[in-house]
Amino acid sequence: MFVSDNLAVNENGNLTIGGVDTVTLAKKYGTPLYVMDEDMIRRDCRIFQESIDRYYDGKGLVCYASKAFCCKEIYRVMQSMEMGIDIVSGGEMYTAFKAGYDLANACFHGNNKTPEELTMALDLHVGRIVVDNIYEMDLLNKLACEKNVIAPILLRIKPGVDAHTHNFIRTGQIDSKFGFALETGEAYEAVQKALSYPHLELRGLHCHIGSQILETSGFEAAAEIMMTFIKKLKDELGFVTKDLNLGGGFGVCYTEDDDPPSYDAYMKAVAKVINAFCNTHHIDRPFILIEPGRSIAAPAGITLYTVGGKKVIPNIRTYVSIDGGMCDNPRYILYQSAYDALVANKAAQPKTERVTLAGKCCESGDLIGENMPIQTCEVGDIIAVCATGAYNYSMASNYNRLQKPAVVFVKGGEERIAVTRETLEDLLRNDV
Ligand SMILES: *Cc1c(COP(=O)(O)O)cnc(C)c1O
Repeated sequence: MFVSDNLAVNENGNLTIGGVDTVTLAKKYGTPLYVMDEDMIRRDCRIFQESIDRYYDGKGLVCYASKAFCCKEIYRVMQSMEMGIDIVSGGEMYTAFKAGYDLANACFHGNNKTPEELTMALDLHVGRIVVDNIYEMDLLNKLACEKNVIAPILLRIKPGVDAHTHNFIRTGQIDSKFGFALETGEAYEAVQKALSYPHLELRGLHCHIGSQILETSGFEAAAEIMMTFIKKLKDELGFVTKDLNLGGGFGVCYTEDDDPPSYDAYMKAVAKVINAFCNTHHIDRPFILIEPGRSIAAPAGITLYTVGGKKVIPNIRTYVSIDGGMCDNPRYILYQSAYDALVANKAAQPKTERVTLAGKCCESGDLIGENMPIQTCEVGDIIAVCATGAYNYSMASNYNRLQKPAVVFVKGGEERIAVTRETLEDLLRNDV
């Protein structure tokens, strides 16, 4: 009935998330409101962690890709779960640091890290800096030299697997702004160069083949390609790769049309490839890192809105206007992403109409979805859009000077505020 198994209907006919009544939450905290189910986040982290235990003897670390959903509270949860994290900016790094997260378990990504960001990573002892290009390698070595430290690095590799769609293809991926290409020899040269630098410690390699990937084959192909490269580095350079970071991208269920593999299936498939390769070629198994972002955050979150009006255009469509939109969820205007929505205060009723959920910004494209099946909507109803935990709050903007919504976490049937709603004064904070 629902796209996430933490959603249900209570005796009042209202939608619940993690056992908490969403209509009550909307009344208490106002709308738009993001709600994140911490129990579900913890459960899904554990599923990924246990898959490494089960299929790879625990020789690995699950790193939550925090660009999917970032605030101090999520880093506190990750710290208490002994999760690694993936960070991509000084802002994410600082947020994690201020939340008390131990950055030794952080991987720092990005194709254009600034000198300030790299300096901060060295000062805060980030455990792995994933070097994207030669300029960055030179710069990091220089900064580490000035501080008389040794920077632990991985190299970002383009394995030539493009898994952005259901059918992965092995070409085209050279045309990516991220990392060193394997096919051209660029990656090999980058390894040689990194090994020559006194202030860099090359711990291993990283790749990330895409996002919302709904099959395991792309990950298996990437693992095989990376292992073949690791063997070449050992045979030809005597270099032993300690870490192999295989990135994230595990798909989730946004609507009933999506049928992602279980979270446990990725590690099972990938471990099989790596274990077999290492047995055959007598190589030590690398320490594996994986970086789920969407798969941890998306299903755990919903967004609540209040219906402000309805516009029936006969034989064309019905617009239902909500008090948020592209500012809190830009994924439809960016990628026409599909979502499942329902009327939270009529959650037990059948879906009787199809509507276009329209945001309140001055853009015709500001929609949450078109032709969405939903219960009959009236002014004042609370709309819940499901599986919005990833790439919603973290992509939110103040376009039209809308205030960013609050974020509430639910856990064990109780809720608490994690991020307060922006005030009008917050909007003026940096204006002179
Ligand atoms: C975005 C990203 C991830 C997470 O991707 P998801 O699709 O959210 O799982 C992991 N690693 C890197 C390097 C990324 O850029």
